[in-house]
This record gives sequence, C-alpha cells and structure tokens, in this order.
Amino acid sequence: MTSSAGKILFVSALWLALLVFDGAAFALERCQDPSVKIEDQATPDGVQVFATMNGLLESTITLRAQLKGMTCTNPLPLTVCLNTPGRIPIATFRRDGPANWSYKYSYGWQKGLMDYNKNLGGQYVVCAPPFPRGVSYKVNQGFFGAKSHKRGGADQYAVDFAMPEGSVVCAALAGTVIGVRSESDIGGDDISFVHCSNYIIVKHLDGTYGEYVHLRQGSPRVRPGQQIAVGTPLAFSGHTGFADAPHLHFGVYKVLDGDRKVTLPVYFQTSAGVWTPKEGAVLENN
Ligand SMILES: [Zn+2]
Repeated sequence: MTSSAGKILFVSALWLALLVFDGAAFALERCQDPSVKIEDQATPDGVQVFATMNGLLESTITLRAQLKGMTCTNPLPLTVCLNTPGRIPIATFRRDGPANWSYKYSYGWQKGLMDYNKNLGGQYVVCAPPFPRGVSYKVNQGFFGAKSHKRGGADQYAVDFAMPEGSVVCAALAGTVIGVRSESDIGGDDISFVHCSNYIIVKHLDGTYGEYVHLRQGSPRVRPGQQIAVGTPLAFSGHTGFADAPHLHFGVYKVLDGDRKVTLPVYFQTSAGVWTPKEGAVLENN
C-alpha cells in the first residue's frame, strides 16, 4: 500500500488553532515522507509557498487554499510539476489590504510527473519478475486485493510478493531511477504507517513509473538519476510502511495530478509465457 503525502496547514491571527489542529493531524501518522517538503514564508505583501524535493527528481503537487482577504496569483486548485532541485516557489498569496487576512491550504503530491496528454503507457504492462532468476515468490495480494489494492483505488493493479525481509529486489523494467527513500525503519499493520515506506521509483521508457515499496532501511543500491536495465538489483525487501508482514509491493503507474495516480495491470514474462498474478499463486523467475 502506498499513497501520497498530504498535510493541512492553517495560519491566521488565531495561531493557537494551528497548534491544536497540527497536533491532531500528527497523531494520525507516524511518519512524514521527506521526499517532498512544502513550506510557506511571509513576504512583504503576503505569503509564498515553496516545495523542495529530497531524493526525488520528479513530482506533481496539487495545492488547494482557502484565502480571506488574500488572492492567489494562480487559479486554485493549482497543480504544478517539479523536476528541478532546490527550493522552488509554487504559489503566491497576496494580501488584498492591510487587515483581516488569513490563509489555509492543503496539498497532495505524487512521485513522478503528471501525464498531461493522458496517453503514457498502454493498457497494460508485461515485465520481468522483480526478483532474481531462479527464485520464486508467492503473490499475497494481486489485482483488486481486498486489503490495500481495492478495485477503483490507486493501487488496484499492484502486486504484493511474499518476500522475506532481505530478499533481493530487481528492476522489472528498464528506465531511470527518479526516487529513492531509505531512511525509514518502521512498519506495521496499521494505516498510521502509510508514509513510513522506503521505496525506489523508476521512470520507464514510455513515461510510466515503477514503484518498489517497503524496502529495508538503507538497502537501496541505486541512486536518483541512475539508468538501470531489466534485472538490475535495486535493494533488499523489507517491512517498512503499512504492511502486515515483510513483502514487496510492486506497481506500474502514471500520475493524474498531485492527489491521484492510476496503476496499470502488470503481467510477468516467464519461459512458459506471460504470467497473470493471482493471489496465492507462485511466480518463478525461470
Ligand atoms: Zn501492495
């Protein structure tokens, strides 16, 4: 299970409300994914909102805001694609006058650039098993899995392999690494762990993205910007994030906006033909 990070900030003359509200939001989540950081800063005539990526080369952010006595210089909600390092201004809220102004905003972000033309990838993907040759693993959640790959959800076509912690994870498709998170060391069977996963994100040649999730702390062996081939060892599997047991969550997706992504059905090439992932079945990389 993966999802974008979301956080709500509230600032006004009633600054006490910020503390109460922020404290409540924190209690729901054990981790914050450090890959995208959003912050705001006062300017002489209002506020500017900035985004900074960390270990991530491409992201899409959607910002919503409720402004009183202020105007955003861009129409809201605002979706921006980021593919440059550094602290990037993404929105400016200008005060309409000297008094009675406040702002409140929320945002979502996704790993990868939005599919502007709605045509990245095909209807489905055929790829290699995401582990070495000669090895087999059971699928413990497939398409429309009841636990976290629910029909209609962002992860509906993702596949979970029951890989014991420390198993080698390999690239299922070629591309460029655009995201690596590896600092987390916690996970568990509770939604509060949802932003605690370590992962590697690979941008494929067709513009879709591959995600390898729940990786062991410190295990990624590739870095952002690195080109990789099918079968390249990426990391060790683990039990970080929202997971009832150690496993690898693998999915191929495209980004619709900062709040939404969609997965494409993935099938696996074996010597016996194209293999369809089914819960309880074992995939052998032969
Ligand atoms: Zn999963």
